[in-house]
Amino acid sequence: MRAFNHINAATLDGASDALKRGGAVALAGGGDLLGALKDDIFPTYPKTVVNLKSIPELEYITAEGDTLKIGALTTLADIARSSVVTENADILALAAGRASSPSLRETTTIGGNLCQLPRCWYFRKLNNRFDCARKGGDRCFAVTGDNRYHSVFGGAVFETAPGVKRTCVAVNQGDLAPVLTVLGAKLKTTERVIDAGDFFGVGVLTATVLNCGEILTEIQIPINGARKSRYKRFAFRKSIDFPVINLAISVDGENNYRICLGGVAPVPYIAAQAETLLAGRAITEELAEKAGLAAAEGAKPYEANSYKVQLIKTLVKRELLAF
Ligand SMILES: Cc1cc2nc3c(=O)[nH]c(=O)nc-3n(C[C@H](O)[C@H](O)[C@H](O)COP(=O)(O)OP(=O)(O)OC[C@H]3O[C@@H](n4cnc5c(N)ncnc54)[C@H](O)[C@@H]3O)c2cc1C
Ligand code: SF4
Repeated sequence: MRAFNHINAATLDGASDALKRGGAVALAGGGDLLGALKDDIFPTYPKTVVNLKSIPELEYITAEGDTLKIGALTTLADIARSSVVTENADILALAAGRASSPSLRETTTIGGNLCQLPRCWYFRKLNNRFDCARKGGDRCFAVTGDNRYHSVFGGAVFETAPGVKRTCVAVNQGDLAPVLTVLGAKLKTTERVIDAGDFFGVGVLTATVLNCGEILTEIQIPINGARKSRYKRFAFRKSIDFPVINLAISVDGENNYRICLGGVAPVPYIAAQAETLLAGRAITEELAEKAGLAAAEGAKPYEANSYKVQLIKTLVKRELLAF
């Protein structure tokens, strides 16, 4: 690891100001960021690390009226074992309790989990060996390289410089992103409130639509007693392994379904065709099978990741039948 300045932020305003000065990066639990700094994967090493954990009152879980509120610095372990979360958003507790490992969950946070950078192995290669598009470089190495864990729904096109467009086919693999999307969560920042479905984005060294210096402060989940939901992840190892694919489904009292998949596209993928097919209908074996097919509709996998298409079909069908 190289030397950097370390600031213990006392307030959100102070942290935002420090981040806007440039060359600075926010630190929450450090599970993602410290690995990236140790492995020296960034094209320019950050000059300053701004510790958000020193800001008071960003770690809490409360149910207020019809909203479950979670501070962005709340750890995954606290969310997983919270009875308030289990009562009001059980799949969030489930997903938080499955992410990474028991020890990492004690220190890593819900905010950091939502903002974490992609796990693409070119992006993560030691010493910035692949200066790829997602780091501001000219090309995506995964398109012609080893893309077995990459997107089956195409790449995200974004600007690496004004007027310069590049593509990235890395996926969003976090456990919590699809869950918060189907629960209709809103994400409060130092500047605005963003629907979870609009929060994720692809840009140079970012996986969100947050502006420079903008900090995620609170996750707000509508409480809905009539809602039922399910969460399933498929990973090769049982522990300390990102999901290859994960799936969250919620359904309200009128059989309106929300279906979101992680690990299949650059941002959490809302299976809109499957949602439309299912709207207002009771699940049968035949309908669940059709919904699985609809969820995979439009997939254009590479040879190495075509297995993900079958995973989508099977997971969607199985989880619908499990309600
Ligand atoms: C070995 C390993 C296995 C893992 N497995 C999984 C897994 O299976 N599933 C899964 O979902 N995750 C997994 N993770 C990720 C982990 O669970 C954390 O989500 C991750 O470490 C990020 O959370 P953090 O609090 O540590 O954030 P940090 O590492 O401190 O920050 C991550 C990024 O988010 C930014 N950031 C943090 N907080 C904020 C905020 N409030 N506002 C704006 N930006 C912010 C930081 O600047 C940084 O860019 C794994 C991590 C490791 C190291
Ligand atoms: S998929 Fe994205 S992160 Fe991976 S090499 Fe391509 S541009 Fe970089």
